[in-house]
Amino acid sequence: MQLIFATNNPKKLEEVQQLIGHKFDIISLQQIGFQEDIPEPFDTLEANALQKARTIHERYQLNCFAEDTGLEVFALNGEPGVRSARYAGEEKSSEANMALVLKKLADKNNRKARFRTVAALIFNGQEYLFEGKVDGQILLTKRGEKGFGYDPIFEPMGFQQSFAEMDAATKNSISHRGRAIEKLVAFLLKKT
Ligand code: IMP
Repeated sequence: MQLIFATNNPKKLEEVQQLIGHKFDIISLQQIGFQEDIPEPFDTLEANALQKARTIHERYQLNCFAEDTGLEVFALNGEPGVRSARYAGEEKSSEANMALVLKKLADKNNRKARFRTVAALIFNGQEYLFEGKVDGQILLTKRGEKGFGYDPIFEPMGFQQSFAEMDAATKNSISHRGRAIEKLVAFLLKKT
């Protein structure tokens, strides 16, 4: 079965291809020639994920899914949350975003955080949502070169490595995105 993954983020595409590339035929936006920025105007991950999936479904009428992810830091009342991409400004700089989180946590003892992903699937015209979460903590400084976004400052609970120090398969096996996509795949395997 063919399924469009509505993302412009090549790192997300890579992770999701690794997770489900052998089960379904994942089509990227690049492959279908869609080059616009998909807006994420809402204040929940659910609404933004749905908006992205609807944008592509309305245009192509094909089964598709999108996801929206946020880093939720407890001592910052859940920030950056849905604003994770633009936390430090419109330029969407991961370096600036991480620096801002580290600065805001400098005088806090509680460094607990979690990543949360909501995946929105439009399958045969019906909409479905799947959530994945991973608990962990924000490190004092960046560690590792792999992954993307906030990965260098996030250490998942039970591990002594940041996401950016892990190989992709290990991150995928425990991550927010991995868990959301696992649910989506289980759903699709039952339906098909
Ligand atoms: P969005 O889901 O593309 O809007 O991503 C929101 C922000 O979270 C961006 O700054 C991403 O770089 C970051 N982000 C999304 N997924 C991950 C991840 O798996 N690890 C680290 N940062 C992520």
